[in-house]
Amino acid sequence: MKLIEHFISGKKYSGNSKRTGKVFEPATGDQKAEVKLATSEDVNKAVENAKNAFQMWSNTPPLQRARVMFKFKELIEKNSDELTKIIVSEHGKVYDDAKGSLTRGLEVVEYACGIPQMLKGEFTENVGTNVDSWSIRQPLGVCAGVTPFNFPAMVPMWMFPMAIACGNTFVLKPSEKDPSCSIRLAELFKESGLPDGVLNVVNGDKEAVDALINNKDVVAMSFVGSTPIAKYIYENCAKNEKRVQALGGAKNHCVVMPDCDLEQAVNGLMGAAYGSAGERCMAQSVAVAVGNIGDKLVNSLTKKVKALKVGPGMDRKSEMGPLVTKEHLAKVKGYVDIGEQEGAKLLVDGRKLSLKGHENGYYIGGCLFDHVTKNMKIYKEEIFGPVLSVVRVKNFDEALQLVNEHEFGNGVSIYTRDGDSGRTFSNKVKVGMVGINIPIPVPMAFHSFGGWKRSLFGDQHMHGPEGVRFYTKLKTITSRWPSGLRSDPEFIMPTMK
Ligand code: NAD
Repeated sequence: MKLIEHFISGKKYSGNSKRTGKVFEPATGDQKAEVKLATSEDVNKAVENAKNAFQMWSNTPPLQRARVMFKFKELIEKNSDELTKIIVSEHGKVYDDAKGSLTRGLEVVEYACGIPQMLKGEFTENVGTNVDSWSIRQPLGVCAGVTPFNFPAMVPMWMFPMAIACGNTFVLKPSEKDPSCSIRLAELFKESGLPDGVLNVVNGDKEAVDALINNKDVVAMSFVGSTPIAKYIYENCAKNEKRVQALGGAKNHCVVMPDCDLEQAVNGLMGAAYGSAGERCMAQSVAVAVGNIGDKLVNSLTKKVKALKVGPGMDRKSEMGPLVTKEHLAKVKGYVDIGEQEGAKLLVDGRKLSLKGHENGYYIGGCLFDHVTKNMKIYKEEIFGPVLSVVRVKNFDEALQLVNEHEFGNGVSIYTRDGDSGRTFSNKVKVGMVGINIPIPVPMAFHSFGGWKRSLFGDQHMHGPEGVRFYTKLKTITSRWPSGLRSDPEFIMPTMK
């Protein structure tokens, strides 16, 4: 059985843990590997190596750091087929979707190549007579990242290329469900010329995460995962005086106005609800049908959900792959059971789906509920599977209120031909990322990604300008050089008289 280890100071490292986790191939249900689950000593070793590399890396000129980044970009492109296949085999999503997610990570690397431009400071000459003042952004030290299973390449790449291009060193703890991609990315980064110790990967579970939280040399933590763990990370990292950004779960609504282009809305919803089998933090799991559009929307969705092609991720005809684990499959099916018990109308039931030749894979067909109401568990909670709930409301105001009252605020969309509705909605909605006639409004790498409410704990969003702010701290210097001017001691606040 293949053993997945850690990557510390430029080499594979086995560590002293006796504990391992199982890594499965969701398409077949077969176990593919064992992954080492780090002890706190393993984690501390990674942090120590990152700490030792910080002095050298932070003093490396930004352009030289950027050159390593350019080479890394080339190597990701050259190895994209291999990386994509690793994602498909451990996560399950379909090949083109996996490749697309790698590209979205690559775009952050491309942005990071230009970070020297973002690190330039500000300068004011003569803030007082012969006194100059300037601000610079300096790296923080050892930064850590803890990532979820659903984007094994993209989410780690929201973090470590940004942190490293800013001059920090990094310890990444990827999801133990699909850990191979992170190790391969670290190897490619080393091949690009990244000095040993700048990027380290430790595999593990809660024990490894707690060791990162408790290690005083880790000065900043980036987290992406479910809301209860995001809150735990936020509270405990703050308690340990770390800078922290912790992105959590979501329940993304798509508001369908009666005047919209219905075909465009339905096609958008199909991709957003069922793409990656709904295992996306930006997946749309609630369609809000406004006014008289409900029946037409539901009829059109029903036909398309029934026609969804579910199959292994490597089969290029598949539109939707399996879920990530057997336990997650059981949880998603459990939510469909609950929805029926709560009285929602199940129009398409994917629970019984069985694929010939893949009977042990973690498959579920697309599920569609109508007449879901806001007090139901299937509306309130994140299901993280291919289950779309239609909620019917009377008008725009009711739709806006519904979205704003939900505990999560990651992404949202509105489909309308009316500029007034689109603009008012984007202005008033309490959500971090908003689409107008766009199904999944994920910001490009040069903007920043993040939600509101219980979808993000902390102040800075990920990548783009907010990412640079998160991974650097501001220093402002005021200086005066002897110029022949002399003054007596002053005991009052200087004012520009
Ligand atoms: P998860 O919270 O179970 O795990 C995320 C990470 O936390 C993993 O590395 C895991 O090992 C670690 N972890 C798990 N339990 C822990 C504990 N008790 N203490 C410390 N660390 C722990 O999330 P997941 O199931 O891997 O991913 C799915 C979730 O991630 C969904 O809720 C999804 O919405 C969310 N997500 C959010 C975003 C976003 O940008 N907001 C993006 C992707 C995924």
